[in-house]
Amino acid sequence: MQMHDILQQNPELWGIFTCAEEYGTAFRDGYDRFPHYMSNHREPFEPRASQYLVEQGYHPEYPDGQPFAVCLTHDIDGVYRFALSKGYATLSSLKNGALAGALASVRQLRSKKLPFCNFREIMALEEKYDARSSFYILALAPGDKDYTYDVRDLEGEIGMIADAGWEVGLHGGHRAYCDPQALVAEKRRLEGVTGRPVVGYRNHFLRFRVPETWEHLSHAGFRYDTTFGYADCVGFRNGMCHPFKPYDLRTGREIDILEIPLTIMDGTLDQYMRLDAGKAWEVTRRLIDATERCHGVITILWHNTYMEGEWLKLYENIIRYCREKGAWMTSGENIADLAD
Ligand SMILES: [Zn+2]
Repeated sequence: MQMHDILQQNPELWGIFTCAEEYGTAFRDGYDRFPHYMSNHREPFEPRASQYLVEQGYHPEYPDGQPFAVCLTHDIDGVYRFALSKGYATLSSLKNGALAGALASVRQLRSKKLPFCNFREIMALEEKYDARSSFYILALAPGDKDYTYDVRDLEGEIGMIADAGWEVGLHGGHRAYCDPQALVAEKRRLEGVTGRPVVGYRNHFLRFRVPETWEHLSHAGFRYDTTFGYADCVGFRNGMCHPFKPYDLRTGREIDILEIPLTIMDGTLDQYMRLDAGKAWEVTRRLIDATERCHGVITILWHNTYMEGEWLKLYENIIRYCREKGAWMTSGENIADLAD
């Protein structure tokens, strides 16, 4: 029996799964996101829809009998040293003019050299635990909001990531989630560098509209999205810790794209929930354990700018803990391959 048929038997869970409350005139924040604080679904740490699926006999399998999966992901919002050393909050608070000026001077200085990136360090850490991951790269044009680097300057790094068996996906810009033309232009720009189809997606700032963004991504030719999570709270936005095909309540039809729901973003723990690294680890472990019980997939978003100090230690704790549990730690693309 299909996932949708099982969930439809439980009207309350079907409402949570389909995000019925997000349709129509639901309140949206300054980035056009539906925040958890407006949701009637008050148990974000419990994957209720997935638990129900498992009770009804749903049991996904992973390579080599691994008990559950971890989708490791990185959004690349900045790659220059000035951005990394000052942290993303500072970067994003710079006025556009100041940022453009700073970027121009950095690019002038390093015009023939690779920008400072910590991709290799991240990959080496993951390799140590037999893990792979996805890197979502911005492919914006000069003048676009948050154009902090040019994707063409990363050609060497992007080739290195892909050749090593990690994934390069698109990090859609501020308009991409609601503007199909911007979305397609960014996808083409990135594919001009990768030389192969880009199948994975996450939008910058987790900007997302149910169900429109899924429809746009499907039409643009993406195979999966992993934006769908709350910016202001970690956990299971629609009660799911399994990848799923979204259902459009307006058309009454399934949308042809796989959603690998986002469970934990570093900035959500730190900036929105105001947790220190110790508290953040407690919540994270709870969500990992819940995912393990459902044989699910937990998606972790760690920015390259969070790979230092106690937040780097927390990231390593996550992958060490999941390695000890025998989890399959891999990219979104590999998880999408399995779902086909
Ligand atoms: Zn971003």
